[in-house]
Amino acid sequence: MDSAKDKHTGQIVDGEQLWYINNVDKDAYVCRGCNVPINPVSYEKGLKRRPHFRELNGHPHKGWCKIEGEIELIKKAKKQKITTPQGFPASFPNKLELIGERDKIDKEKSNQADDNLAKRTSSQSEEGSNLSTTTSKWTARTIRPICRTYCNFPKDRDLPLLISNLYGDTYNDVIRRLSSKEIVIYTKNHLLYAPLGWQKIHKDNDKLIIYLGYGYWINNKLIPYKVQVNIGDWSKSKINYVLEELNIAIYDSKQVKDKDKKTKVKSWLFFIGEQSLDSPEIFIVNDHRLICCLTLEMKSY
Ligand SMILES: [Zn+2]
Repeated sequence: MDSAKDKHTGQIVDGEQLWYINNVDKDAYVCRGCNVPINPVSYEKGLKRRPHFRELNGHPHKGWCKIEGEIELIKKAKKQKITTPQGFPASFPNKLELIGERDKIDKEKSNQADDNLAKRTSSQSEEGSNLSTTTSKWTARTIRPICRTYCNFPKDRDLPLLISNLYGDTYNDVIRRLSSKEIVIYTKNHLLYAPLGWQKIHKDNDKLIIYLGYGYWINNKLIPYKVQVNIGDWSKSKINYVLEELNIAIYDSKQVKDKDKKTKVKSWLFFIGEQSLDSPEIFIVNDHRLICCLTLEMKSY
C-alpha cells in the first residue's frame, strides 16, 4: 500500500514521507480504509526501494474495507472510465492544503472530526446501507497523492481538484504535461510534470537543479527544462528526503530501461513552481511538499 493513516493525528501519510521521519514508530499506522494496524516497510535510507506499508499477519482488512478493492479498481481504471452515474467509486484528494506547524494542531482536530464522519459512513455501509457507492474526498498535504490519483485514473480526470493559485478546477485542467519539444512561456499556473532526466542532480548550498527530459531541441541536442529547488533554509533531513526520492526515481527509470528497451515506463517529476522570467526553461520550487516523482507508464486521458 502506498499510504496509510497515522492513528495519532488522523492524517494520511504517503510511504515516501517516512524518509523524512527520523525514528519511524512502527505501531503508529493503520489502514486508511478500515483502521486495522499495518506495518511501514523499506523506510531505511539507501535501500533503493520506496517505503510503503504492508498488511500484518493476523490483521486482515475488514470485510467492508475498500483498500484491497482499490488495487483491482486501479487496474480497470487504466483502460476505462470508472465514474458511474452514482459517482466515483474510490476515495481521492480533491484539494491541496499546506499547513504550517502553527496551525497543525487545529487542523488535526478537524481532521479527526472528518474521520469520525468517515467511520460512521463506513459502519453504515457495514450494516447494509443501500448506498452502492460513496465518494469520499479528502485534503492532500503534499502533491504526491494528487499526482498518484491523476496517474491511476487517467480516464477520470474530470474529477474535481482545487489548488490555490493554480488554474482550473478539475484534475485535467489543473495538471499539465510540459511541452516536450520547445520552451513554452506558461501564462497560467499549473501543477506541471515531465520525465526526469538522467543527469546527476546538481547540489550546492542554496539549491538543487533537476534536469528534465523535455525542452528545446537544437541539432539533436536538448536544452532541457530545469527545476531549481531552493534549499537554503531547509533542514538536512528535508534535503535528504527530496534527494533520496530523486535518486531512487532516476535509478528506477534506468533499471526498467535496462530490462526492457521498449518500456513505456518512465520516472516523472511533478512540481508546482514559478517559471523564471529571465530563463523560462527554469522553474523555481521552494517547498518540499510541492515536488514528487512517480515511476510508471503515463496513460493519456
Ligand atoms: Zn483496510
